[in-house]
Amino acid sequence: CGIIGYIGGQPALEVALAGLRRLEYRGYDSAGVAVVVDGGLRTLRRAGKLANLEKALAESETSPRGTVGIGHTRWATHGGPTDTNAHPHTDCTGAIAVIHNGIIENFASLRAGLERDGHELASETDTEIVAHLLEDELAAVSAPDGTAGAGAAGAARTAEGAETAGASRLTEAFRRVCRRLEGAFTLVVVHRDHPDVVVGARRNSPLVVGVGADETFLASDVAAFIAHTRSAVEIGQDQIVEARRDGVTITDFAGNPVEGRPYHVDWDA
Ligand code: GLU
Repeated sequence: CGIIGYIGGQPALEVALAGLRRLEYRGYDSAGVAVVVDGGLRTLRRAGKLANLEKALAESETSPRGTVGIGHTRWATHGGPTDTNAHPHTDCTGAIAVIHNGIIENFASLRAGLERDGHELASETDTEIVAHLLEDELAAVSAPDGTAGAGAAGAARTAEGAETAGASRLTEAFRRVCRRLEGAFTLVVVHRDHPDVVVGARRNSPLVVGVGADETFLASDVAAFIAHTRSAVEIGQDQIVEARRDGVTITDFAGNPVEGRPYHVDWDA
């Protein structure tokens, strides 16, 4: 029911938890976070109030100190409010973490296809399929046989840095996934091997960017980042946003560049 993504110089865990607290008024039944740390991904989720998650974090041996991360509060639609069904959801390799607001209507057929291909899904949610689909699409766009095709992934092969190329591949793979989804979704994704980006998408569900000084926020509601910046960009219907510390790149699901609509948030949160 609430989404926040962060990339910048501050501890992402604190930014995410503070953002989720600002979204608490919307109601939820579970909460979770994922932080990119040293080539790995630390994910923690709990049924119940944010306090449960914070307690679990306090009890865990080390607090993840990374500056790239995501946070989610869930209002269960598919699968009960359990720890396992709470977001973020991960793929088979544990490289990808996904959070989602909304409902993916065609998840059952996508899930059946994934299971036929050998994916093991841990939860009952409509969301988890996104992590697994992304795992497969990322493998496809990264394949050396050139299945990457046109668009951003094609351009990525000529990009200067491997980092940039990798991030563009992640975004292209994510576009491919979104094209296969039906229903309503705000999705935000982090990948342990691409700590330079947080990627988001939306259809029939809200997603806004917060543009800070050397930091960028993705959220379901400006309330989540208003304490940090009042400079926002609205993401349109069926669009993907690749957020970096220094700004965002927005495209439609086909990969065509889109001009974001910047605005100033002038209400007091
Ligand atoms: N449909 C998803 C689930 O049940 C997301 C629910 C939400 O919007 O929080 O896990």
